[in-house]
Amino acid sequence: MNNNNQEDFVRIFDTTLRDGEQCPGAAMSEDEKLEIAHHLAKMNVDVIEAGFPVSSPVQFKAVERIAREVEGPIIAALARALRGDIETAAKALTPAKRKRIHTFLATSPIHMKYKLGKTPSEVLKMAPEAVRIAREFVEDVEFSPEDGTRSEWEFLREVCEAVIEAGASTINIPDTVGYTTPEKYGELFAFLKANVRGAEKVIFSAHCHNDLGLATANSLSAVKNGARQVECTVNGIGERAGNTAMEEVVMALRTRKDFYGITTKINTQLISRASYLVKTITGMVVQPNKAIVGANAFAHESGIHQDGVIKNRETYEIMTPESVGLESNKIVLGRHSGRAGFRDRVIRLGFTPTQDELEAAYNRFLEIADKKKEIFDEDLIALLTDHSRRTTSAKFHLEYYHVTSGTTTIPSATIKLKVDDVIIEDTCTGDGPVDAVFKTIQKITNINPVLNKLTISPVTKGTDALAEVSVSITFGDRTVVGKGSSTDIVEASAISFIDALNRL
Ligand SMILES: [Zn+2]
Repeated sequence: MNNNNQEDFVRIFDTTLRDGEQCPGAAMSEDEKLEIAHHLAKMNVDVIEAGFPVSSPVQFKAVERIAREVEGPIIAALARALRGDIETAAKALTPAKRKRIHTFLATSPIHMKYKLGKTPSEVLKMAPEAVRIAREFVEDVEFSPEDGTRSEWEFLREVCEAVIEAGASTINIPDTVGYTTPEKYGELFAFLKANVRGAEKVIFSAHCHNDLGLATANSLSAVKNGARQVECTVNGIGERAGNTAMEEVVMALRTRKDFYGITTKINTQLISRASYLVKTITGMVVQPNKAIVGANAFAHESGIHQDGVIKNRETYEIMTPESVGLESNKIVLGRHSGRAGFRDRVIRLGFTPTQDELEAAYNRFLEIADKKKEIFDEDLIALLTDHSRRTTSAKFHLEYYHVTSGTTTIPSATIKLKVDDVIIEDTCTGDGPVDAVFKTIQKITNINPVLNKLTISPVTKGTDALAEVSVSITFGDRTVVGKGSSTDIVEASAISFIDALNRL
């Protein structure tokens, strides 16, 4: 049905690292991006959009590293329809085995007039020109008419024909502002497939935003009308209300194969871990009732439902938790589990730790197992993604802490921090134990950031559960998110705060 692949399936173009990262507070470090990219590759996504290289040297470096180190998926880089952007994207992609330049230019009347200050005929020249430039560097070029859903269809048709002629192999129609509806978006794809000269030579792609809560529905409607690539992010993170959630599209196509008749190549069992990874790295929590990856997505609360599920799961369950990689609350390991069992489980969860990381994680596991009898998958994932504990080279390291708190005492904290190689100890009081801890750390480090947000979430059920703390701080013009986990929420808060300071 198309030029670059005989097989009919929906390609998953993940833009967690580009469009996803664009949302406030989701900035990721290079190592974190790489970790996500490796996991996406393991999930078998078809394309990873790694970033927008011309936008900053940090972006450039991250794209280049992903291009060098991540194998399997096509690595894509974004570029405006400008030679400089395209050359920079091409340069960043150099080490990639499979690469794609994704160039875009607005085609809606409002964007052309007010944003670009260009006439439609100028845009009609610039778009294919950008594709031609990109083709000087790579075989695989994707073009997006930005704000496609608010563009005139006839004009869109002309632009599509021009870029196909210039050598684009994927045409993505972005619903940049989240304005379209499933019926309209589907009609647009049907129109383009039927009327664009050369349409049979390219893959049409959907790119939706969730401003009206329609991103998944719109993307599926596009698929129903011939789109064979969906652009999405893990957990649906992205600007404003976010992008299409990858897990939703993938599971909808899988669960309703009877209706769509087409699926993706995603290893769905790695979805939960992907969600967890993106959640902890970005500090963007997932609402409990979120489809597929929310904490309650597979919880049956009402008695009638529970009874039904026990008799036959299909009474109230359209997908199994196992299909997205959840073996919820099944006890996996305990105090007496050996290294081999631990390693096995870790690998099954989709991690590939080095020997040193594995050893550190195992020791940490034993520590937790002392405090907590049952260790669940979620605990293991938290433990393995706890970055602060993995970086021994960090500037600040928590050696010891002690707090006193109670209804009739003024909360106070004593903290011993290793700063480089020097141990410094100090004490402060505060409004509560966490406040006292933060004040003491600030006193020792002499850094006084603005605390934007502190989120404490239990990883599993029970009062002995691991708690995961994510803290967002701003210092000068930099905002960073630190994370920590412990069975003790005060300790987890301290670790997350120190982690954030280390990131600064
Ligand atoms: Zn977008």
